[in-house]
Amino acid sequence: MDKKYSCYCGLYCENCAVKVKVEPAAKVLYDEMKIAGFEDIISFIPDGEGFWTFLKGMADDGVCVSCRDGSSDPGCVIRICAQEKGGEMCALCGEYPCEKLAVILQRHSLLESDNVLLRDKGWEAWGYLQDERQRSGFVYTDAINESKSGG
Ligand code: SF4
Ligand code: SF4
Repeated sequence: MDKKYSCYCGLYCENCAVKVKVEPAAKVLYDEMKIAGFEDIISFIPDGEGFWTFLKGMADDGVCVSCRDGSSDPGCVIRICAQEKGGEMCALCGEYPCEKLAVILQRHSLLESDNVLLRDKGWEAWGYLQDERQRSGFVYTDAINESKSGG
């Protein structure tokens, strides 16, 4: 676990679908379309250049750095608040769980127990859990979809 990928709310960037699925998929799509000769026909495709520049950017640099480095919603009230307070993580804040976290705690059913783990057992236990998930191919959005389908 690398703390720079820990998000204030308790998520871990390396287990997000953007990093695990979307960016790798963009690389595959870019490579396949390049091999198929897309660059030769770009001028015939409406906004082909814009699409190609965007896809190449995703393939080469990704779309997301990390929550701590400012990726995702620039107006996230959780991140703004945590940074203003100078806190490491919301789970370690004296006001946890405050109302700003209500939506994300509701959306990610695992987040509450993850944050309790961090608060009660510390970074090592929390990091071990995130690493285990990363090794298993876990993605937060899959966990959401499974809980919606009752799986
Ligand atoms: S931007 Fe906000 S909601 Fe998104 S991961 Fe960071 S703290 Fe959590
Ligand atoms: S007040 Fe809420 S949003 Fe702000 S740092 Fe504490 S737990 Fe996080």
